[in-house]
Amino acid sequence: MFRFATRYGSNGLSLWLRQSNCRHGLNARTILHARRISGHSFGPPTDVEKIMLDSVKATGPISFSTFMQLSLGHPTHGYYMKPEHAVFGTQGDFITSPEISQMFGELVALWMIKQWMDTDVKMSFRVVELGPGRGTLMDDVLRVLKQLPAARGKLKSIHLVESSATMRALQEGKLRKASQEGNFQIMWHDGIEEIEPEEDVFTMLVAHEFFDALPVNVIERTQQGWNEVLIAPSSDPSIRYTIPSSDSDQNLDTPPTLHHTSSRWTRVLSPTPTASSTLLGLASPRFFSLPVGTRIEVSRASMNQARGIGKLINTKGGGSALVVDYGADRAFGDSLRAFKKHKIVDIFCSPGECDVTTNVDFALLKESMADLVSTHGPISQRNFLTCMGIEIRAAALVRSASSLERKKAIEDGANRLIDPCGMGEQYKVLGAVAKGRGEIWPFAVIQDSAQQSI
Ligand code: SAH
Repeated sequence: MFRFATRYGSNGLSLWLRQSNCRHGLNARTILHARRISGHSFGPPTDVEKIMLDSVKATGPISFSTFMQLSLGHPTHGYYMKPEHAVFGTQGDFITSPEISQMFGELVALWMIKQWMDTDVKMSFRVVELGPGRGTLMDDVLRVLKQLPAARGKLKSIHLVESSATMRALQEGKLRKASQEGNFQIMWHDGIEEIEPEEDVFTMLVAHEFFDALPVNVIERTQQGWNEVLIAPSSDPSIRYTIPSSDSDQNLDTPPTLHHTSSRWTRVLSPTPTASSTLLGLASPRFFSLPVGTRIEVSRASMNQARGIGKLINTKGGGSALVVDYGADRAFGDSLRAFKKHKIVDIFCSPGECDVTTNVDFALLKESMADLVSTHGPISQRNFLTCMGIEIRAAALVRSASSLERKKAIEDGANRLIDPCGMGEQYKVLGAVAKGRGEIWPFAVIQDSAQQSI
């Protein structure tokens, strides 16, 4: 067990941390644990499955990338697109850190503000979020910005990259008041590339649980090169592709996955390398020496988004970015999984009705932006939040809490976020800043500690 000291210096951030300003009268948040269930009971084909079946009839087995795009992002049938899907929280299918506790967004805000202060406190800034969900993280960030005297009047605009109209409506509702009071504009974008670079504005970017939702292709090393693992109807005798070498993960410490497939869909291996599998096999030098039989999930969309982050920061105004997600500094072979009502289900269970997600290969994100920015980490969420002062912040909130139930909820929230057996270690934090800034806090502190402990 180790502790890190917070190091905010005399810029007002340390003082803010100790204030007792709570997010609205917050009820205790239910702490939810994903559990596995068997995936054998499948109803009639969903709308997304009907599209998949038509697509297979027209052009053969489909890629995992197409499957994820359809399941999550189909304009009318995709999981994130449907107004009736609660998605987050107790009524939804999963819960995220900003939804667990206001402290998450507050500490992200302090990190962003510190990067701006360390660069040029006279410059105005803008905040960008990729995949803002219900807008809770941004709401917490804006509340902190409003309360810090140094930041007052400096916020130019908010940019939200969000593909779902349903989510955009939730975000608009949540952030309208802050935008009117703060007199800044909120702009929505379909992709990061739509955000104009601004020369004299510092860009602060955050992406929380965004990259895990981006499509991956699954490729397998064969004697011929990289072939692609595709999805086909299990009952179609006209499809004569081979079965991929193994359904087990070659990598360690991936979360539990179900290896059953529904009676309707199965994984098959393309008989020869595809254009995508060949290109993605070349995406990183780490993949060149992997042995025959190795299977990896590679996300071209993630590479593009990571490059987009690098381009936004690599301008005259500069900037900083935090990417928080589950994953590690390596590729995964079989981390694709689906969630329904806080349980892991078979990924082919009700496409379009379940959340589909993968672990993030942070090394690939870093490689994609390495020529544009300096990257730091990833470090565990536990280390990041502890360094940022979550214990001090929790104590301040507990002091001002009006009921025992509320005090307990604050403590439970903090413990859940830094739990070494759960979110604290599973979630990783990657920092990116303009080149030439040297080590940045708290990533440098954690590296130092690691060196000392050897
Ligand atoms: N950051 C939020 C929500 C995470 S869920 C939180 O942590 O609570 C993923 C979010 O990204 C949703 O808002 C979803 O609609 C959005 N999203 C998923 N794929 C996207 C894409 N390709 N482009 C833009 N937004 C996307």
